[in-house]
Amino acid sequence: MDRNQMEQRLKAWLEEKRASKCPLCGEESWDFGDLRQVFLIGAAGGAEIGKEVQRGISAPRRFEPQRQLRELRNQLRAVRNSATINRLLQLTCNHCGHVVLLHAAKILRETEEGGHEPPRVHEGPEPQIS
Ligand SMILES: [Zn+2]
Repeated sequence: MDRNQMEQRLKAWLEEKRASKCPLCGEESWDFGDLRQVFLIGAAGGAEIGKEVQRGISAPRRFEPQRQLRELRNQLRAVRNSATINRLLQLTCNHCGHVVLLHAAKILRETEEGGHEPPRVHEGPEPQIS
């Protein structure tokens, strides 16, 4: 989906929700030109990153690339999930600078043709890094 399509769907979604005005200043000044997809990492997932270094075992005695790669994948799971499954749309008010974060997948589902939300699908195992 290109940027213009995302912008159009977000505008339609905001109008449908009667949320086209900024909740802080009340102006209709969303800066769609600055719309960005971003992600946040949960604190629990973020705390996993680099934990071997914190425990002082950053230099393993043996070279075990498979194990080390597996550990790295596990540590980065929170980043990967946030950047793929839980993307957010960052929308800023041009008038007052208020920023809102909206769940991109939810908006895309709700603005699909027909407007109905499909049944939730089990997300299954982690995608593999190749
Ligand atoms: Zn505002």
